[in-house]
Amino acid sequence: MTRPLLCPTCKSNRMRFTVIEQMPRYMRLDPQSGEVVAELSSDQLDAFHQPYKGENFMIQCGVCGTTEPEERFAKMAQHMQGQRS
Ligand SMILES: [Zn+2]
Repeated sequence: MTRPLLCPTCKSNRMRFTVIEQMPRYMRLDPQSGEVVAELSSDQLDAFHQPYKGENFMIQCGVCGTTEPEERFAKMAQHMQGQRS
């Protein structure tokens, strides 16, 4: 992370953040019992199973607990810088 972040909710926190890594795991379940039959890697998925396309990680504000993609925090930091000058 090499750009300033600012929480879009409490608008005061620029220092205390938690990085939440998103680790998609692809499962095949037994339709009757719900038991895990197989765990697949993304290249083993069949045509009916969409791979995860979301964020690789999320950021949580350490002060108010808001969790958003990093982009939202970076945009807010940019926006507030623009207002000050
Ligand atoms: Zn916050």
